[in-house]
Amino acid sequence: MSATGDALRQRLDEVRGRISAAAARSGRPAGSVLLVGVTKTVAAEVVARAVELGLADLGENRVQEAQPKILAVGRDRARWHMVGHLQRNKAARAVDLFDRVQGVDSLELAEALSRHAVEAGRRLPALVEVNVSGEPSKFGVGPEYLERLLEAIEGLPGLAVDGLMTVGRVVADPADARPGFARLRELRERAEARLGLRLPELSMGMSGDFETAVEEGSTMVRIGTALFGPRA
Ligand SMILES: *Cc1c(COP(=O)(O)O)cnc(C)c1O
Repeated sequence: MSATGDALRQRLDEVRGRISAAAARSGRPAGSVLLVGVTKTVAAEVVARAVELGLADLGENRVQEAQPKILAVGRDRARWHMVGHLQRNKAARAVDLFDRVQGVDSLELAEALSRHAVEAGRRLPALVEVNVSGEPSKFGVGPEYLERLLEAIEGLPGLAVDGLMTVGRVVADPADARPGFARLRELRERAEARLGLRLPELSMGMSGDFETAVEEGSTMVRIGTALFGPRA
C-alpha cells in the first residue's frame, strides 16, 4: 500500500466531494459532516502526510496500536477519535490519547472513562455505540437498552455524551444499509424526546456506505480504505 503524496491527496479530494454531494442531496451544507480518517494499520508517516493535507480528525480502534502512532504524528496535530469497542482496562490510556471516544457500550466502561477524565480535569466527548442490526458479532448496546444506558451515563461528571454511533451491516449494495442508518436516527430522536437529552451527533458511514449514511443524517463518517487503500 502506498497511499502517499498525490494518490492520497486525490482520494481525500474525491471522498470530500462525495460527502459534499451526499450532504447537498439531504439539504445540508457540506460542512455539516465531519470526515474522520480511520488510520488503523496505516503507517505513521502516511498519517502525518494526511494531516499535512488537511485531514484534521483521525480514528484508531486499538489503543495499543494507536499510542505510538499518535505520539509519532503528534497528539496535538489532529483530533483523535477512538472508534469501536474499547476494553475497560484501557480507559485510562484512552483518556490520555483521545479527544473523543466513539463506542461507549456499557455503564462500566462509561464509569471508568468518566473517572479517569475527572482525574485528568477533562470532560470527554463520547458517543454511545448502538448495535442496530442485532448481529451477535457486533459490539454496541441493543436498541432496547439504549435509553436505560443513556440515563445512567447522563450524570457522570467526566463524560459528555452528545450522540450515537453505529457500524452498519456489511452489504453488497449501499442502499441496503439505509434502514439501519434511518433506525439510528429514529433512536436518537426518540431518546431526545423521552429523556430530554441533546444528541446532535450521529457517527455512521464507512468506506462502503458513507453516502447513504450522510443522506440519512450522519454528522461524522469514519473512512479508512477509501482514503488509505485496502488494509493488509
Ligand atoms: C475500520 C473501521 C472503520 C473504517 O472502515 P473502512 O471500511 O475501511 O472505511 C470505521 N469504523 C470503525 C469502528 C472501524 O473499526
